[in-house]
Amino acid sequence: MSPALAIAEAVNRGTSARAAVERALAACRAERWNCIVRTCEAEALAAAEAVDRRVRAGERLPLAGVPIAVKDNLCITGLPATCCSRMLAGYIAPYTATAIARLQDAGAVVVAQTNMDEFAFGSSNETSCYGPVRNPHDPTRIPGGSSGGSAAAVAAGLVPIAIGSDTGGSIRQPAGLCGCFGLKPTYGLVSRYGLIAFGSSLDQVGPLAADPADAEAALLAMAGPDPLDATSVAWELSAPAASLAGLRLGVVPAHREGLQPAVRAALEACCERARAAGAELVEVELPHERYAVAVYYIIGTGEAASNLARMDGVRFGHRAEADDLAALYAESRGQGFGAEAKRRIMLGTFVLSTGYYEAYYRKAMQVRRLIRDDFRAAFARCAAILGPVSPTTAFRFGEKLADPLQMYLSDIFTIAANLAGIPALSFPCGRDPDGLPIGLQLSGPPGSDRQLLAWSRALAISAGVPLAPCDAAA
Ligand code: GLN
Repeated sequence: MSPALAIAEAVNRGTSARAAVERALAACRAERWNCIVRTCEAEALAAAEAVDRRVRAGERLPLAGVPIAVKDNLCITGLPATCCSRMLAGYIAPYTATAIARLQDAGAVVVAQTNMDEFAFGSSNETSCYGPVRNPHDPTRIPGGSSGGSAAAVAAGLVPIAIGSDTGGSIRQPAGLCGCFGLKPTYGLVSRYGLIAFGSSLDQVGPLAADPADAEAALLAMAGPDPLDATSVAWELSAPAASLAGLRLGVVPAHREGLQPAVRAALEACCERARAAGAELVEVELPHERYAVAVYYIIGTGEAASNLARMDGVRFGHRAEADDLAALYAESRGQGFGAEAKRRIMLGTFVLSTGYYEAYYRKAMQVRRLIRDDFRAAFARCAAILGPVSPTTAFRFGEKLADPLQMYLSDIFTIAANLAGIPALSFPCGRDPDGLPIGLQLSGPPGSDRQLLAWSRALAISAGVPLAPCDAAA
């Protein structure tokens, strides 16, 4: 049984939730990767007791007593939510994100909050005001980002499930680089209420786990319409078929270009094993995907600049000393935001400004539509698309920090799914010659989230991937 479901099973049978929660708290306190920004001892122990009471009263909870870690951009009543930015230092959330409230209702216990790139801008977790996260498989390398803390926490075995957010790959890329499963759900499947917004038309909250069965349990707890998020919708998540036999699996020839040789070899080996297990491989084209990075950095920055406008030292955020209001805004924002956040705000303000809106934002929206239509056409010919998550395995600290374009290009394969609103996940599928995990991506039509998890499990098992936290935790 998967790690989280094993805990839930035991707690539902009467074992106290306290033991599992205390173990996770101790592991989070002692961790060496800087993936945890704070633990919440008192709240977690009280929540464990509440779970025990509910079980004693006869309830069966799907995630009874399962310790989880939550990215620091999701609000939880009474706890800080800083997006790992100086801007939100000292901010205490006045309410709980719907996705987290639903996990708690299902019996999960939040034990810690995880490190991330500042405001989720980044692919390496190097822009956090708490300092970088180290990859548990090699501490000289980045864990990926922006949910790098969540991925490292799962990879290091601190918690069986961590929650992240994905605007352009921020769950899948770190999951891939840390060797765990990470799902970006169908847009609208999980409520965004209480997620501190980056790009509202792109953001989704999703699970990272060492076993896709645990990710599925978390997804089922979180999913469903929410009156507090007008973009949330009801999707029918029918029970999936686990077998690869008869699966029409799409592959995109262009996805083989520019990959690190070991990543390319892992992709090809996975295709071979899928074929051997009875899947039929179908070549599909996504002709407009090559514009995805450009489109994303117009739409994503435009939405980010709008969403971050409220961080002005008056409504929200760090407040500087100043003599007049204009100076107060300028100083507060100048001091509160880091360099990457400032770059995004300037880019986003530019693409939305009068005279440029038509040339950039509007054009990007039109190309976004073409990207979505490409996926629609592809999914008429296959049930899922298999490809890389990122072109390389985990890179070293500092390698891409000075060159934003290189950093942005590490998201080249993940961004299109956010633009199209489709579900996509990363699953571990081998290692490079240095022993670093290689993640592959599976994407499917809207609502296929559970099915993708089931297929990814079969593909990972066929590659001999152990469905347990990495040995780095030992
Ligand atoms: N790495 C991408 C970026 O920097 C994606 C971030 C995300 O998904 N939050 O924007």
